Amino acid sequence: MTSTADKRAARTVKKPEIQQSEPTFVKVVIIGSGFSGLGMAAQLRRHGYNDFVVLEKADSLGGTWRENTYPGCACDVPSLMYSYSFETRGDWSKVWSSQPEIEGYLQDVADKRGVTQKIHFGQKVVSGYWSESESRWHLNTDSGREYIARYVVSGVGALHIPNYPTIPGVADFTGQSFHSAVWDHNVDLRGKRVAVIGTGASAIQFVPHVQKDAGTLTLFQRTPAWVLPRKNFAVPSPFRTLLNKIGLARILARWAVYWGAESLAFGLNGHSNLMRPIEKLAQWNIARSVDDPELREKLTPTYRIGCKRILGSNDYYPALNAQNTTVVDESIAKLTSDAVVTAEGTSYPVDVIIYATGFHVTDGFDQLALKGACGKDLPTHWHETGINTHLGITTAGFPNLFFLLGPNTGLGHNSVVFMIEQQIKYIMKAIEALDGVGAQRIEVRPSVQQEFNSAIQRRLSKGVWTNGGCTSWYLDSQGVNRTVWPGFTWQYWRATKDFRRSEYEIA
Ligand code: NAP
Repeated sequence: MTSTADKRAARTVKKPEIQQSEPTFVKVVIIGSGFSGLGMAAQLRRHGYNDFVVLEKADSLGGTWRENTYPGCACDVPSLMYSYSFETRGDWSKVWSSQPEIEGYLQDVADKRGVTQKIHFGQKVVSGYWSESESRWHLNTDSGREYIARYVVSGVGALHIPNYPTIPGVADFTGQSFHSAVWDHNVDLRGKRVAVIGTGASAIQFVPHVQKDAGTLTLFQRTPAWVLPRKNFAVPSPFRTLLNKIGLARILARWAVYWGAESLAFGLNGHSNLMRPIEKLAQWNIARSVDDPELREKLTPTYRIGCKRILGSNDYYPALNAQNTTVVDESIAKLTSDAVVTAEGTSYPVDVIIYATGFHVTDGFDQLALKGACGKDLPTHWHETGINTHLGITTAGFPNLFFLLGPNTGLGHNSVVFMIEQQIKYIMKAIEALDGVGAQRIEVRPSVQQEFNSAIQRRLSKGVWTNGGCTSWYLDSQGVNRTVWPGFTWQYWRATKDFRRSEYEIA
């Protein structure tokens, strides 16, 4: 067991001993204990609210930072910024922290803020409905429990249902296979013939580790990624001491990281020519690491940088340049018992297949099968109407339901923790506003929601995700961007800093 696993085991709270027939009544149910859910719980406590629970499907907290344990898993946003503003840290060991360190951070915050004991583990929400007569949500979990709450805050995240490609013959493959998000640490890759399918943010982090261990690595690339040079280095000890001891130094360092990242938003949102110099840097990264001109060409994207997530690594291209690596950009036709076969008929015998094929994005919300006041459950409603919200936080037809990191609040350039914190503050203001007038029900006005969505879709239509010449998980099956916030994050701060009662029907 690793030390993180030990910590997990030590801090895991048993399922609550509640009789199946007895519902649990609380003011707020938070779903999920990742950055979103824990942040919400910490702020509820800070504002003097104790009448809440966090429902967590797994046995330990951490969300995406618990689930993803692949070798090299790390954050691609500097930790100084990829952390709560109310719980800053100066002692991150590296600029871009690794998964165990981030998971440990979340565990520490949860303990310190008195949140751990509020988490009900092993409680996956499977259904729920809004009771108009009670002005309350009823939620059911997979262990047969019922929770009745005034408010529900979803912190389920979008990237947690692994996407396994539907390749003919998958069932015929007799070797070992697993998805990057459910890494099988029992599989010994040493000396094996390993295939990796996919070249996104996850793959580029673990491919260098796999290449070192494997006998041969065959990387199946459908679309190359733009990868910028990035050396992750240990934060020098005097600097860590300074950050640790002086709060102002931490704040200034966070600001430097924040504004550096914000500058990218110009190029991503309607001024994509500004991204050309960054493309040049990424091209140089290929040129300096890859000897074979044919391989260089294979690895050079033809779309504008930023259209897919911009990646950073100093190890990825050298791993592809290594003698034991083959990059295959032919499409995969089928699997046989021991090989991956391409459309051109070439057979690549392999012992292990690692799927780095991303996540079902909208299915993250599909898991939230809550029936609203509109009489439909959220996935059905959104399948019919398209995913529409106000500020990514509330949606018409679903009173008293709030989203953290909901639709159109993801980012391609800065820390999503910043977005989550603005949402938490907004939700706190909404709850306090209702408490202030003794109201029990809040629902966004459809006209306000429509206006918000029209405005962001207008802005997104100029963005690099739509015009950059690629497809990505940011776009839905109709090519509409339902994931990214179109602009600077300070614009989101400005949009959410006031809770405007006039935008809601409050009763
Ligand atoms: P991803 O970006 O969706 O990449 C999936 C890869 O699999 C792509 O290269 C895709 O090719 C390929 N693929 C999918 N289906 C395929 C098929 N049927 N056949 C062949 N190739 C297929 O997934 P990810 O790498 O797991 O990253 C997802 C997101 O997680 C990121 O965008 C990021 O937001 C987050 N993430 C963050 C960090 C971090 O450091 N903070 C680290 C990892 C992940 P196409 O490009 O052609 O579709």
